[in-house]
Amino acid sequence: MSDVRNVIIIGGGPAGYTAALYAARANLKPLVIEGFNWGGQLMITSDVENYPGYADGVLGPVMMQDFRRQAERFGAEYLTDDVTRVDLSGQPLRVYVGDDEYRADALIVATGAHARQLGLDSEKRLQGRGVSYCATCDASFFRDKVVVVVGGGDSAMEEATFISRFASKVYLVHRRDQFRASPIMVDRARADEKIELVLDTVVEEVLGEDKVTGVRLKNVATGGIDELAADGFFVAIGHDPNTALFLDWLEHEDETGYLVTKSRSTETNIPGVFAAGDVQDHVYRQAVTAAGTGCMAALDAERFLAEQRDKRRPFQPVAAAQG
Ligand code: NAP
Repeated sequence: MSDVRNVIIIGGGPAGYTAALYAARANLKPLVIEGFNWGGQLMITSDVENYPGYADGVLGPVMMQDFRRQAERFGAEYLTDDVTRVDLSGQPLRVYVGDDEYRADALIVATGAHARQLGLDSEKRLQGRGVSYCATCDASFFRDKVVVVVGGGDSAMEEATFISRFASKVYLVHRRDQFRASPIMVDRARADEKIELVLDTVVEEVLGEDKVTGVRLKNVATGGIDELAADGFFVAIGHDPNTALFLDWLEHEDETGYLVTKSRSTETNIPGVFAAGDVQDHVYRQAVTAAGTGCMAALDAERFLAEQRDKRRPFQPVAAAQG
């Protein structure tokens, strides 16, 4: 039996597991190299209320276990390890985990993205306990509460404005007195009565034992230290795609590193290699959109594999085929 698989999926988030589900149900026996930290960004999310089908909401990690189990039921195989290298120079495509080589005719890249973190111990400890990286996901938990948003780009402006629909007060903390965000987004935030701008300021610590109770701030111009009481803390300082392994092979946006796919498909510049989820999407970044493109990638891979099989099949004259 050939050790070349039909399809390898790299990544264990909504996109990877949905690709695995569709590929498994198409009898492609996918291998999912899901990473040590499988589950991706959902693993640092508490309640998910906007994934269709979970009418009562679901915890992010539970949802990822459900996704994983569903694909496993149809024969998806998992390797809980991190890919260290790929070689996409020709068929079969090669994926390495240390010295172990895995080969496949098709590859689905679903390694996701990660929200940039400030890097504070207290921020890490309180993740899912008031510290969030996604306003769309978590703003509604802060109805009539006080929230701090960090950042000075379009994401921070957008998130602060969105959160202000729910919260009673939003402090927008930025480390400089100039914004990177576009003027129209800044104007919108400035015009919002619930938003107060706190400039030239960095967050030194997120306060709270079991949940966020406030922040300790430092004014970088004066050196002054201040504390603010708050219930929520949103970090909105950008995202980075997990694309380091692929930059030498796959077409990507120069500045951001996000993979580029062909319009209305998940095809990359290399035949047989598809990209799904946040690794190729910095606009929507939702579990449901990632799952959607994971499904697309599996269907694209299935079609690609069928075309390859047709090409390999020896030519049969029509008469002979009928006889
Ligand atoms: P971004 O433009 O890279 O802005 C990141 C912001 O976070 C910057 O203000 C930066 O401060 C700050 N920051 C970075 N690291 C920090 C740290 N360690 N501590 C404190 N602050 C830190 O990221 P983004 O806002 O996510 O936007 C990314 C792209 O998506 C942009 O092209 C943006 O236009 C686009 N976007 C568009 C929309 C929209 O049009 N609706 C919405 C969201 C995003 P400095 O300025 O001091 O570097």
